[in-house]
Amino acid sequence: MEQALYPSIDGSREEREQFVGLLEELLTTVDEMKDPDKMTLGKLPDDPYANRDIPQQPGTMKKVIQELKELAQGHRFVNHRYVANASTLPNIPSLLGQVMMTLVNGNNLWDVEGSAAARAEVKLTRMLSEVIGYNPEKSGGFTTWGGQGAVFQSLRLAIARQFPDSNEEGVPPNLYCFASELSHYSLFKAMQATGIGTNHLIRIKTNDDHSMNIEDLQEKMEAVAEKGGIPLYVLASTGTTDTFGVDDVKQVKKVCTNIEAAHQLAPIYLHADSAMGGMYTFFNDYETEENPLGFRNQVIDEIKRLQKKFRHLRLADSLVFDFHKLGQTPYISSLFLVKDRSMFGYVDLNEEETPYVGNRGYGNYHTSYTLECSRMGSSLPIYASLIGMGVEGYQTILAQYLDVNIAFREALKERFSNVAVTNEVSPITTFRFYPGRPMWEAEKEGRMSSEEVTDINEYNSRFAEVLGEARDEIYFGNTSRQRYVAVTDREELESVYVQKFFSISPYTTVDRVPEYIDFLEKQMNAFHKSMQLI
Ligand SMILES: *Cc1c(COP(=O)(O)O)cnc(C)c1O
Repeated sequence: MEQALYPSIDGSREEREQFVGLLEELLTTVDEMKDPDKMTLGKLPDDPYANRDIPQQPGTMKKVIQELKELAQGHRFVNHRYVANASTLPNIPSLLGQVMMTLVNGNNLWDVEGSAAARAEVKLTRMLSEVIGYNPEKSGGFTTWGGQGAVFQSLRLAIARQFPDSNEEGVPPNLYCFASELSHYSLFKAMQATGIGTNHLIRIKTNDDHSMNIEDLQEKMEAVAEKGGIPLYVLASTGTTDTFGVDDVKQVKKVCTNIEAAHQLAPIYLHADSAMGGMYTFFNDYETEENPLGFRNQVIDEIKRLQKKFRHLRLADSLVFDFHKLGQTPYISSLFLVKDRSMFGYVDLNEEETPYVGNRGYGNYHTSYTLECSRMGSSLPIYASLIGMGVEGYQTILAQYLDVNIAFREALKERFSNVAVTNEVSPITTFRFYPGRPMWEAEKEGRMSSEEVTDINEYNSRFAEVLGEARDEIYFGNTSRQRYVAVTDREELESVYVQKFFSISPYTTVDRVPEYIDFLEKQMNAFHKSMQLI
């Protein structure tokens, strides 16, 4: 009885067929809940609090599948109706990798306990180092818990590299980190958790293209150094989460080098937070003149613009590939990559500290420098995806996202006289509606009052509510903090509320664009009608 609940140990065909039968049932269950006319699977779910007891008796596999089905009811499913965020539809190679990962259940902490994933991790590190332009003989990397995990691990390296005693003595009191005001909150959390404290996070202004303002960075780093503070770490956002603004890594690096020289400082750590944008480095070597994949001219122009920015990622000390975003693999699959793997030595444990693993005479890959102990083998789904997609597969889908967004922007501006597109071409389009004519230029230039800006925010926030009600039809995203703008009557800046279109699956195609626009128009009419009633 007990053994029947486990895979066979002898590869018996009969037992495999039973297992395949269950998988088939599971896949069928999910497939039967799919409906291209809706964004969600099946029906609305049950009340999750109704039943809290673990069953006393073992359940049948039929029961297990039934219960799983119940949980999947009402789940969002990424088809062409989902255009809200970077929640990917994992591709089939990555799903195969994920199944292999669980079949062998390797622990990526130590190659003896997880040789498949460890080998995949070593290969991935080399492959992606080549893409970035890191020297693969020197670089290192490991999969970790998301873009957030990469920021945390990079900050830990920055502290330990400059203050090797800090592991024993704690973190010095006068360390400062710098990131744009539109950076992801990952750094904020990492500063809480490392004990540096969020008061020591210096936020840098952004430009109209949502990249970090380099003069402001220079001034603020200078000010910290002059007062005797230690500029420790700069986070360059390469693809901001909402608007895909890309910081100029080359200029950021230059500022760091200047400050180091002027104040005789140790090297300042530079992490490129490429969780959102990292996959676009796959165009670094794309021949835009020959254009072997035949992208249309407008798409090529955007690829050229992005190439200029992403080619400099190699200047960063570390970066991340968040495959579960634009890399089309399941959660959590992120590779943290460092230029110089000898840095891991600053945070590695001594053998005496790891009595369970790694200090025996066998195995040669023991990752005791990660913040995790056991690690899932998510290098397998990533590796499988790279093999299944290839560079061209990724280039094709990433170019499709640009293509769709170009078409979406054009159609949006054609249909609505009261809209402004508020970011550069990328997989994301942010757009802001106005009660009358678009006032985006005036807002950006700080020519509007606080009340005027907040009224327009309110208008967009209420419209987002209307869109949200109809999200089963098409699910748009939104953000209350696309960027900050100056206002005429107050010192403080105002944040800007916008709607968001995010193309994240191959099913979001140029052909679909009219549907998205029709939907927005229908909801806008309903919104205006409802306002007249109030
Ligand atoms: C999404 C994102 C993160 C966090 O990544 P997770 O994988 O969700 O942990 C960090 N930085 C940026 C810029 C992001 O877009």
